[in-house]
Amino acid sequence: MGNQSRFAACPIADGGTSSAAWLDWLPGSPTLDFSTCSSLTVVAAHPDDETYGFGGAAAALRDRGVDVQLISVTDGGGAFADWSPARRAGLEAARRGELRRAADALGIDDVVELGLPDGELESHESALTESLVGLLTGRPPGSWCAATWRGDGHPDHEAVGRAAAAACARTSVRLLEYPIWMWHWAEPADAAVPWSRMQRVVVDASAAARKESAAAQFHSQTVPPAGGGGAVLPPDVVDRLMRVGEVVFV
Ligand SMILES: [Zn+2]
Repeated sequence: MGNQSRFAACPIADGGTSSAAWLDWLPGSPTLDFSTCSSLTVVAAHPDDETYGFGGAAAALRDRGVDVQLISVTDGGGAFADWSPARRAGLEAARRGELRRAADALGIDDVVELGLPDGELESHESALTESLVGLLTGRPPGSWCAATWRGDGHPDHEAVGRAAAAACARTSVRLLEYPIWMWHWAEPADAAVPWSRMQRVVVDASAAARKESAAAQFHSQTVPPAGGGGAVLPPDVVDRLMRVGEVVFV
């Protein structure tokens, strides 16, 4: 079940739950065991979700010689709703470039861009499911697919989670779901979050450093745009994502 009303009730500019509150509270969840992963597909609704949500894990798996494919579902062109089509196209090109540089930093050279419309994935969910089935079919036993969580609150993130869940069920790939916006709208012990299914991602300093390098690429999201207005991801949002670390629901 989704949590879009929770996210909608918690404007990004209001700050949301602090990283300190999370770090004081987070339960002693089990650690995700990388040793059983034979190949990984990371599905991102927007360029940057893969890095903030599962980038350290992806880098660590590349270090182990595991094949990692990144599927970027949208180009992220809808970040500023009032921009002209030309300016939106420029943003999409910038975000594709940022994604390539971030993937390079993580050690991922297999990047698939589906080009579905940012902000409209609920209307393209069945097509997305079929695309993911096609990309996951034939993966070796022990393959994983990490996607944005079905309960993350952002409509695109939830649509990606549902599509990935359906595709994994059809291809016998193991689904892992990573939260992004949950850290904003949820609270410690929140009943909307499946804490008992949570596992923590623990990586070494090398993988953590490469995630930092990848995260530093997303200027279009972290720097206020020319002409006024705030950044899509304010500094406290980025800081929270980096400090709470990566978790998955299994
Ligand atoms: Zn996103």
